[in-house]
Amino acid sequence: MIPRVSLPWERRMITLEVRRCQPVSPGFATVTLGGPDIRHLVPGGPDQAVRLFFPREGQPELRMPTVSNEAWMAQVLLMPKAARPWVRNLTIRSLRPVERELDIEFALHGDSPMTSWVRRVRPGDPAGIFDLGSMYRPPEHARGRLLVGDESALPAILSILDSDPNPPPTDVFVEVASAYDIRSVSTPPGVRMHWLSRDSESLRPGVRALEAVGDAELPEAPLYAWVAGETRLATGVRRHLVNDRGVPKRDVSFYGYWRLGRSAPG
Ligand SMILES: Cc1cc2nc3c(=O)[nH]c(=O)nc-3n(C[C@H](O)[C@H](O)[C@H](O)COP(=O)(O)OP(=O)(O)OC[C@H]3O[C@@H](n4cnc5c(N)ncnc54)[C@H](O)[C@@H]3O)c2cc1C
Repeated sequence: MIPRVSLPWERRMITLEVRRCQPVSPGFATVTLGGPDIRHLVPGGPDQAVRLFFPREGQPELRMPTVSNEAWMAQVLLMPKAARPWVRNLTIRSLRPVERELDIEFALHGDSPMTSWVRRVRPGDPAGIFDLGSMYRPPEHARGRLLVGDESALPAILSILDSDPNPPPTDVFVEVASAYDIRSVSTPPGVRMHWLSRDSESLRPGVRALEAVGDAELPEAPLYAWVAGETRLATGVRRHLVNDRGVPKRDVSFYGYWRLGRSAPG
């Protein structure tokens, strides 16, 4: 699945440092990164994502790729494992150029590389980013909007909501692991939040959101839909909208953010 993303014409590897880490709810934490090189980040759409580079446990320093093009991955894979950083995809939850800071919100789970790093970070620890672009592009003709995601897509959905104070009629379906992660979000008129929680290890992530969208009365057509999360959620909602609801393929942006049972490459 190759999502349609917009990228700036020039991107740079950017090295920053951790400023702070704050819990949001039992399953979420926000890490603030900052530093002078943040000026090289070109602000993109509201779901602008980055490759995040961070050291493996025990590594004394962060070794970043030196090339700022698609050859970076080969460069990382050629590093000896002892020196190679972890690389994960994350969304910029908010960017504050004046303070030279950005926030990333992490959905914590198990003892994965990303979760373990968030649990051990301290101010001053190094982290790097490389712009991945943005895929949120509502067409001019859209009169209604649908946003669907699991916990990994909640930061992007909240950024999308923050970016538009006068939105079209919008339904938002967010599935989180636990009811303790449901939070109060202030939204402008016309936005209806539908929170879903699994509260069970045996329920496949994304199933509750997929079912809820299938049963829902959707906002007025023409509709623009943005869907992200576990791969089967993203593809399942898209298939449903296109096959059962008659939404044109081009009006659905979808992105499999992660795959159940598989680690992200890098
Ligand atoms: C464009 C983009 C933007 C993203 N933005 C964010 C973001 O802002 N915040 C965020 O938290 N995630 C975000 N993600 C998802 C994140 O990159 C993946 O969840 C990533 O796999 C997490 O790495 P890890 O080290 O935790 O787990 P991995 O090492 O990749 O996987 C280890 C195990 O955990 C499982 N797993 C992976 N992610 C999850 C999850 N979320 N819940 C439960 N199990 C999981 C895998 O299936 C695997 O079995 C984004 C992904 C993309 C592509």
